[in-house]
Amino acid sequence: MHLLPILYAVLGAAVAYWILPWLWLRDRKRQLLVRCREQRAIAVTFDDGPSRELTSAITAELAAAEVPASFFLLGVSVQDHEDIVRDLLDQGHQVGCHGEGHVHHWKSPPWAGLVDTYRGLRRLERVTGLPAAAMQFRPPFGKLNLLSLLFVWWHRTPIVMWTHDGHDTRTDRDLTPAELADGLRATGGGVLLLHDFHRHIEDERAQVVNKLQAVLALRHEGFRFVRLRDLLAAPRPPASRTL
Ligand SMILES: [Zn+2]
Repeated sequence: MHLLPILYAVLGAAVAYWILPWLWLRDRKRQLLVRCREQRAIAVTFDDGPSRELTSAITAELAAAEVPASFFLLGVSVQDHEDIVRDLLDQGHQVGCHGEGHVHHWKSPPWAGLVDTYRGLRRLERVTGLPAAAMQFRPPFGKLNLLSLLFVWWHRTPIVMWTHDGHDTRTDRDLTPAELADGLRATGGGVLLLHDFHRHIEDERAQVVNKLQAVLALRHEGFRFVRLRDLLAAPRPPASRTL
């Protein structure tokens, strides 16, 4: 007879732990898209790197187009590539944190997400000399639980998502470079997610670069290419400031 209160308590805890962060992150995505449309802007972002070959191929494309990008780095990838992180900063790109070991905050014990976030932030602080509050954090798999959300907030580190998935890691759902550019054109801009972790197969590295090239060509259609922090720091049109 005491089962109902227990059931409500469990449901309430589940809503607080999983659903509230999910709803909040979903709203962040929506706001990103609004910001991109307002500014006719595209923010190209890369997760899970850096890596020796692919990151340098990407930065060569960005330099040729004179476009800055944002790199959300994994601590385990940074470990042997601290020189690349410093190069990214020297070249004017933004670096942010993507955790230490790409822990899924929904599928792991609560402490695992906290420890992973803490290690990722501390490592990046040490390598870049930037405090956590001056970086941005992108959740691995785009997922946070209530504890990890509060933990990142406590560090005053802005949390950022993406609006367009480049599908550069998926073999089950292909998206051509032209289709990717069409999608960004149709929405009036967006925050593009690509990945610069190491791939052994040259074709896999080439498809990331091909997709980047197709998107960079949109600068000839009047799209502005910005770092994520610049996108969010830009002044809003007066009518949009309630978002
Ligand atoms: Zn990732």
